[in-house]
Amino acid sequence: MKKINIAIDGFSSCGKSSTAKVVAKNLGYAYIDTGAMYRGITLYFLEHYINFTDPHGVHEALQKIELKFVPNLQTNQSEIFLNGLNVEEEIRKMYIAEKVSEVAAIVEVRRNMVAQQQRMGKKRGVVMDGRDIGTMVFPDAELKIFMSADVVIRAERRQKELFEKNELVELDKVIDNLKHRDHIDTTRTEGPLRKATDALELDTTFITFDEQVDIIMGLALSKIYLD
Ligand code: C5P
Repeated sequence: MKKINIAIDGFSSCGKSSTAKVVAKNLGYAYIDTGAMYRGITLYFLEHYINFTDPHGVHEALQKIELKFVPNLQTNQSEIFLNGLNVEEEIRKMYIAEKVSEVAAIVEVRRNMVAQQQRMGKKRGVVMDGRDIGTMVFPDAELKIFMSADVVIRAERRQKELFEKNELVELDKVIDNLKHRDHIDTTRTEGPLRKATDALELDTTFITFDEQVDIIMGLALSKIYLD
């Protein structure tokens, strides 16, 4: 059976990761959460007091970082390891969300991450979500989706996720963080967030999670079997 790459891009907290995970599982593909990679780098930079504006310090730090996705056999989901340590929980916290877009705007960080992501999808059969997958990482992906949703809906979903991880954050603070990240992501010079011309737009404001999955599964199966 033909294997394809699926690129899912869009604004923060539109449901990209949760949808991508289920689509990957249904197709027997690998799921790669590129946001987790930028979050992992941010955690390392913060823990090692790396000055984001010092290109030399950033370069040196990147040489010392190893990011790996390791499957958790109990949950059947892959988790991110930073230099051998499972940081899946830590990187989801608000203090990382507050800095990650600044780190993700650093040119050398992006080039390093994009090269790693391209290696991961070389053999096809991956579902990758992020901001620049359809434009920079896999401009040749067979299926590209661009997800958007109303910012209040996105913030409510994000607030619920944080709450489930025992972090109580006011809705206004979550809205500000999403807007701040969207702004940096769309205005940076290297790999800005934008819809690839051949991406299909999916607004998830008024559709359920199952509907999102069904739409993308339908598109993926038609690419695999009919194209
Ligand atoms: O997807 P997630 O919200 O976890 O991503 C965290 C941040 O990482 C985003 O706000 C964005 O700044 C950055 N990112 C990126 N390019 C990607 C994936 C994430 O710039 N491909």
